[in-house]
Order: sequence, then structure tokens, then C-alpha cells
Amino acid sequence: MKLNIEGLLVYFPYDYIYPEQYSYMLELKRTLDAKGHGVLEMPSGTGKTISLLSLIVAYQREYPLEVTKLIYCSRTVPEIEKVVEELRKLMEFYSKETGEKNNILALALSSRKNLCVHPEVSSLRFGKEVDGKCHSLTASYIRAQRQSNPSLPSCRFYEEFDAMGKQVPLPAGVYNLDDLKDFGRRKGWCPYYLARYSILHANIIVYSYHYLLDPKIADLVSKELSKKSVVVFDEAHNIDNVCIDSMSVNITRRTLDRSQANVETLQNTILKIKETDAAKLKEEYRRLEDQLGLSLLTLEQLQSEDMLQKIAQIAHQS
Ligand code: SF4
Repeated sequence: MKLNIEGLLVYFPYDYIYPEQYSYMLELKRTLDAKGHGVLEMPSGTGKTISLLSLIVAYQREYPLEVTKLIYCSRTVPEIEKVVEELRKLMEFYSKETGEKNNILALALSSRKNLCVHPEVSSLRFGKEVDGKCHSLTASYIRAQRQSNPSLPSCRFYEEFDAMGKQVPLPAGVYNLDDLKDFGRRKGWCPYYLARYSILHANIIVYSYHYLLDPKIADLVSKELSKKSVVVFDEAHNIDNVCIDSMSVNITRRTLDRSQANVETLQNTILKIKETDAAKLKEEYRRLEDQLGLSLLTLEQLQSEDMLQKIAQIAHQS
């Protein structure tokens, strides 16, 4: 179906449209025209995602310089995958209707746990373990150490991506997480780093809220994304919880006990160092006294030429 929404030609890949979907698109178009923010609500199961994608993709095609990227933030991996599938359907509809080859790059981005293809690392159970192991293979200081010690373990997918993966952009198309993994395996490139790199020039990216809202991740992943992006937060009523999560840390009784023990160890070490240093200083002073044959020196005495020469001589000998 093709729609005319206040002068904008919108391709919609279904034969029927609910009136709610039409009003939704209309409001969205007005929000984009006004370059403003919009809060839109629609009952679940009424085709919110496809309405949103159809309108924004049409807008991107019509005004490519004004909207360079669509950043679609969703909450869970199944929701991300669902958005990508709707997008795939929409792009196939465009190709069928216009006869043009799809030249849009759209991809999903998720954590290493969902994108890693390293045989051992990807089999680890928890996301934190995967992140930690990947880091131990790819961190820049580890790679620098490997220059002098080639026996240190590495990830060939990372090395291959680093050497070749940035030379040619990911071909146009719609990529879900499995598509990225297949592509990565075929090329021998890490799909996670490939996706992270490709979002810079992609037209549409679908990822979780954290990549934009959590300062620790956003600084690494989303800092360089175009300012002319349209950002969509799906199920936005979850945003406050996501923000609270991002800025919170969990501290257990065990962590507190261990921290206290560490502070005590640190305090004892500092005390010991101070005592040793004081003893060393006293010993040095005593030796100086012995060698000068004096018990106490005034500043005037110290500055006298004879005394300075004597001190220089002792220093030279020692
Ligand atoms: S670089 Fe990629 S493939 Fe290698 S361990 Fe890390 S996430 Fe896995």
C-alpha cells in the first residue's frame, strides 16, 4: 500500500491499515517537520513498529540531508530482532514496488555475548565473562605485549577485522544478529566490532537503550553518531528504570568486607613504609654527622665555603 501523508509518499508493506496507524504516522510526520520531540502512544499489537518504520524511512528517502540516520532503541534482544524483521519486510516491499536495489544499510547491535564467534569465548555462559575474556585477548596493552611475546593468546577474528574490516564498508542490506555472525564467519571478522564500526555509516541502527543512555557504554559506542539522527525509544515507559540501572552499582556485604580489609592492608603498608623511611633518614643523618664530625650544624655553618666543600667531598666519595 502507498499512502500520502501530508504530501509525503509512504510505502506501507500491508494491504490494510488501521486508522490508529494512519494518525500515528501523521503525528510522527508533524513532529519531524517541526524538528521537535514527540511522545506517541498506541495500544500494543496495533502495528506501531511498522507504522513508525514506514514513516521514518519515507522521510529519510525524501529528506536525506535532514535525517541521516534512524536510531531505534529497544529493550530486549527479541524486540530488537522483531524490529529488524519488520524493516526487512519494508525494504523488500520498496524493492518490489520501485524495482530499485535496496541501498540502505540497516543493522542490529547487541553485546559480545550475542555476537561473538570465537569458539571458546562465545561458549561462556555470562555476558560479563564474555566481555572479560574478549578484553583479555583484544585490549591494546595486551596486543602491545604480544609484539615481544607472540605466544600470548589472541582472537583471530579481531585481528582480521582490525587488519581488513575497516577498508570496505559493510554492503547495503538489512542485518540481524545472525546475519552479522554469518557475515563475520565468512570473512573471518569479529561481528561485534564490525557492527560497532558499521553503525557509524549505517542509515538505520537498532540497539538497546543502554547504548545511548548509559554514559559508560554510550561514550564508547554512540559518541560519534550523526547529530542529524532521529532517535526512537520504543516502550519508552521503561526509560526511567534503564537510567536508574545505568547509574547504579550493586554492592554486596562481601564487597564491603573485602574493601575494608583492603583499606586496612593499605594503611598498614603505609605505616610500615613511613617507619622504614624515618629509620633510613635517621641513619643517613647519623652517618653525615659522623663524617662531618659534628653533632649540629647551623645554616650559617652549612653555607660556609669550607663546609660546602667538605659535604661535596663526602657526597662524591659515597
Ligand atoms: S573480538 Fe569478537 S570474536 Fe573475538 S572474542 Fe571478542 S567478541 Fe569474540
